[in-house]
Amino acid sequence: MVGVEQLYSPLDVEIDKHTLTEYVPAKPLESNLEVVFSVTEKTSITPQLDPCGQLSCGSALKFPFARADYTPMVVLISDAKVLVAADATTETKRVVELTLDIASLGELDYEPGDTVAILPSNSPQVVAQVLQRLNLTQQADSACHVNLALNCAKKSAKVPAHIPALTTPREILTYCVSLRSVPQKQFLSALASYTSELKERSFLASLSSKQGVAHYQTLILERGLCFLDLLELCASCQPTLALLVEHLPRLLPRPYSIANSPLESAHQLRIVYSIRAHNPGVTTSMLEAKVEQYLLQQKPVQLYVYPRMPNAFRYTDRELTSNQILIAVGTGLAPFLGFLEHKQLRQQHATGQTWLYAGAKTPQAMLKQEQLVIWQENSILQHLRLCYSRSSVAEQPKYVQQLLQQDAEQLVELLQQPTTILYVCADGAKISKSIEDSLRCCLQQVLSLDETQATHHLKELRTQGKYREDIWL
Ligand SMILES: Cc1cc2nc3c(=O)[nH]c(=O)nc-3n(C[C@H](O)[C@H](O)[C@H](O)COP(=O)(O)OP(=O)(O)OC[C@H]3O[C@@H](n4cnc5c(N)ncnc54)[C@H](O)[C@@H]3O)c2cc1C
Repeated sequence: MVGVEQLYSPLDVEIDKHTLTEYVPAKPLESNLEVVFSVTEKTSITPQLDPCGQLSCGSALKFPFARADYTPMVVLISDAKVLVAADATTETKRVVELTLDIASLGELDYEPGDTVAILPSNSPQVVAQVLQRLNLTQQADSACHVNLALNCAKKSAKVPAHIPALTTPREILTYCVSLRSVPQKQFLSALASYTSELKERSFLASLSSKQGVAHYQTLILERGLCFLDLLELCASCQPTLALLVEHLPRLLPRPYSIANSPLESAHQLRIVYSIRAHNPGVTTSMLEAKVEQYLLQQKPVQLYVYPRMPNAFRYTDRELTSNQILIAVGTGLAPFLGFLEHKQLRQQHATGQTWLYAGAKTPQAMLKQEQLVIWQENSILQHLRLCYSRSSVAEQPKYVQQLLQQDAEQLVELLQQPTTILYVCADGAKISKSIEDSLRCCLQQVLSLDETQATHHLKELRTQGKYREDIWL
């Protein structure tokens, strides 16, 4: 379980070293919003079982990529299995498979590769710490609403659509705003004006100034310091809730790939997530807390989910007679587990070839490795190539890119067939780019193309829908 101590990890940033002696502070901004507590301030909103603030915002608030006719609904975590244990020596992330009981979504028509979105919430401990800093602990559950400030001069100012009309400070900080987003310079400058200690105020003001661009680059963009880190670094920074509502972006739902076939069960689906050991993300921390709750209580735990609009990255009955080249790195294997299970359940109709290239840190970190081998033995997979980046065997390829190049001849031959589709899924844009580079090399080598021609060929493949990619982060 991720404790607040880990989320609030001590930072080894010496603020004086990142404070300029000469800079022009940005013009102070007037606050455009105000938080007004109800006259009957003591009547707190009765907390629901598992409330979710953005759901009470009305139809004006859109949920990104939600399928038509679907809004977030409560589903139940009905099972949780650890697929991969975290391992610090190989920097392997813990991977968990969740089974979700989705009966509340009705007859959901989905295919392997489709995605659902999960509504995250900020951890209760972190929210409690922010409330304390804002001096709102006593009013954390008091009814309030957010208005335009009386003196607001900005014509375009409005109350963000992701804040419910009637809410509480705890609800806003738990469900509505992202506490870990990249702080914009305007926000830093606003925070400076709510900081009493000179050294800390100068640090924030200098960081937000035009002259502070290099420090902003290092601390905010490269080291990823977020609002919570700044609060830790600047103990005298005490912003208002209205300021946070104005400057912190919406806490957005996160997509997760469906990792099973719909033929398995109409009312259940599985997702697989990985969690970082250090500085874990908001949604994955929330999922970890829910898994812990599930394992402790041994009864289903609620989660807010909605189905996202499908795209071409899916394996349907149409694909049964075509060929697939599947390339996965890390947890990116998750959607392909669904593809392969679907093919298995439709095996009598499946005439196409399926090749899988997958990479993980170690054999233990490869998702469902035994199942992959069984699929190969049962001719669901015609070609299975696995590699491990932390392998100590010198002559073995470590990366899928190397496997692709080793197989260049047969790979390009299969790819050239009219019904072959190549799918790439990796948890990182850099890996996807590097896979593309090695595919380019394969095309150059086998088809005797120069780099420009091979790039053009890849572009054509994408246009024709023969090269499909899911980039996660
Ligand atoms: C189409 C699509 C499908 C996806 N399917 C899956 C899936 O099936 N399984 C899955 O685990 N993820 C999947 N993701 C990624 C997922 O949506 C989240 O981005 C991820 O779980 C981290 O969310 P978070 O809220 O915990 O992290 P945030 O709080 O958003 O973390 C901030 C940043 O930290 C980094 N980060 C945090 N956690 C991780 C992590 N575990 N691994 C690598 N970097 C991390 C990322 O750069 C992230 O942007 C998918 C993304 C897309 C776009």
